Amino acid sequence: LLQLYGPLNFLGSVYSAIRTAMVDLEHMFGLVEEDVEVADPLHPLPIAAHLQDSDAAEVEFRDVRFGYGPEREILHGVSFVAQPGKKLAIVGSTGAGKSTISRLLFRFYDVWSGAVMVDGHDVRAYRQADLRAAIGVVPQDTVLFNETIGYNIAYGRLDASPSAVEQAARLAQIHDFIMSLPEGYNTQVGERGLKLSGGEKQRVAIARTILKDPRVLVLDEATSALDTHTEQEIQVALKTVSARRTTLVIAHRLSTIVDADEILVMGQGRVLERGTHEALLAAGGHYAAMWAAQGAEGVTERLAEAVSR
Ligand code: ATP
Repeated sequence: LLQLYGPLNFLGSVYSAIRTAMVDLEHMFGLVEEDVEVADPLHPLPIAAHLQDSDAAEVEFRDVRFGYGPEREILHGVSFVAQPGKKLAIVGSTGAGKSTISRLLFRFYDVWSGAVMVDGHDVRAYRQADLRAAIGVVPQDTVLFNETIGYNIAYGRLDASPSAVEQAARLAQIHDFIMSLPEGYNTQVGERGLKLSGGEKQRVAIARTILKDPRVLVLDEATSALDTHTEQEIQVALKTVSARRTTLVIAHRLSTIVDADEILVMGQGRVLERGTHEALLAAGGHYAAMWAAQGAEGVTERLAEAVSR
């Protein structure tokens, strides 16, 4: 793997140099009107990537206004602080702007006004690659390469030793499953190999993130319901990976965020309510109504599961 990594790394830098040059050209000729690319600063600030080398990061949105196109503002002044090592959950109806917040944190786009801050500095002060190295994401749906399952986990850190890969797989609750496969860590997965279930893929993503060891974690919770047992295993794995890291959870099931340090309830690009689970329930607003509705849904799901057994 190491032998491969050198040339790949080199190709990666050539690619990014070419890409940067192309982006510069596009800007020069005004070719990109719609999808404006973000640019690295001339004198970037350093930022620690790994939790083992530093403390967890502080993440702040300061009165952020943003839209994808000039004609439509999507976030209308969003503010919050995720304290180092704490868990901030974002809930809200579809289209409220939850994923947009995570895209801005990664600086896939620049804000119109206000600022996205990490460690007390505007994300525009960092090199994009450095910023993204400090943030890990467990996405809704993980892409698997047509490679071995071991490689797919090691992708989180390509120079990881086999024992580090195994340790990450154990923490992500997927080691036993891998050992039950015909060729263990060497089993081919992906389109041309073994197809993994949604829950298994999610655990591969968690193992990758454990290896990457980022200081900030974004969990984009899957909308599709998993069976109760798988859900519990995933929650155990997620607890491991989010421990001590500043964690932003884009949540669909309120049951997974009752322990969040703060919950933001978003609606149409605004923070409608914020507080802990208990405080929001007591306030009797949108969150309390969502909780009541999901509680009823949960009972129906559990009944359906019990009946199907
Ligand atoms: P969901 O729960 O359905 O994932 P969300 O709260 O994450 O929703 P966002 O994905 O942040 O919502 O989208 C917020 C708004 O921005 C939506 O109205 C959506 O149509 C719009 N939007 C999202 N991505 C783009 C894009 N690439 N270009 C233009 N508009 C976009």
